Amino acid sequence: MTPIPMLNGSAPPAATGHGFPPMRARHIHTLQVNLGKLCNQTCHHCHVDAGPSRTEIMTRETMDVVLDILRRHPDMTTVDMTGGAPEMNPHFEYFVSACRALGRTVIDRCNLTVLFVKGKTHLPEFLAAHRVDIVASLPCYLEENVDQQRGKGVFTRSLAALRQLNALGYGAEDGDLMLNLVYNPVGAHLPPDQRELEAAYKDELLSRFGIRFNRLYSITNMPINRFLDDLRAQGRHEEYLNLLITSFNPALVEHVMCRTLLSVGWDGRLYDCDFNQMLDLPVEHGLPQTIAEFDNALSARPIVVGRHCYGCTAGAGSSCGGSLS
Ligand code: SF4
Ligand code: SF4
Repeated sequence: MTPIPMLNGSAPPAATGHGFPPMRARHIHTLQVNLGKLCNQTCHHCHVDAGPSRTEIMTRETMDVVLDILRRHPDMTTVDMTGGAPEMNPHFEYFVSACRALGRTVIDRCNLTVLFVKGKTHLPEFLAAHRVDIVASLPCYLEENVDQQRGKGVFTRSLAALRQLNALGYGAEDGDLMLNLVYNPVGAHLPPDQRELEAAYKDELLSRFGIRFNRLYSITNMPINRFLDDLRAQGRHEEYLNLLITSFNPALVEHVMCRTLLSVGWDGRLYDCDFNQMLDLPVEHGLPQTIAEFDNALSARPIVVGRHCYGCTAGAGSSCGGSLS
């Protein structure tokens, strides 16, 4: 394993040519767990290539291994569940309850429409009862844009789900049930300023639909899977990569999410982040490759980087928690 110097934040790193600067993890604060690729939607921009016909699902046995690691590592304070639609996993409630019983903050990355799928309609009450933070996709407050990216009728069902969550106390300014929304551009451009966009979302959603939420996360589209296919079909792949590369903000390398997060695949394999997972780039060779083999060397591991990493450092930066600057 080639030793890579730690970035200490004192001097911004330089990106040379197409090479993203080397970096290491600082610690593991968040375990991001992919519960499977099954989803009730098939969005155009999906970097997971998720959909109703996917069969990759985390088993209860693998969940138990994850829970055992959490039990032994109290410094991992947050469990961030991704998919597909994580709620489509038949053991979703088991996993959430067990993580909460261990005192972890639990985040459900929810597509909203899954809350109307047969057999899942009890989930809003379940999530509220277990004090689960919800991060929900809503790429626009205009119906046409949402339906174009996520499918016909998604906007109307998303609003209905948000109203239901609001009625349970989610999104209230002084409450503890967090409802955060995710914006991502509908086209091949960078997101606008997150703070300004959040203010516009709050105004529009409240005045048009009576909906409240806590924070807006603006996320850059990653040139991976379906979004990459779309870019290629439009002949805009190189143009978009150049936009990400020329918008590189070196000060953000210190803050990219892989430095404090470890990603667990549906089959228990380990990755530096969800994007590396979708590109089938596991953690560096020589390190434990599965959650069952977890050891503390992973907390200071060298990160596996590539051109896609410029998606995290372009402009104001991007992560699962929104803009980085
Ligand atoms: S973007 Fe989210 S909701 Fe859409 S298909 Fe992918 S996993 Fe499902
Ligand atoms: S794509 Fe993943 S590995 Fe690359 S900078 Fe972003 S979070 Fe880190």
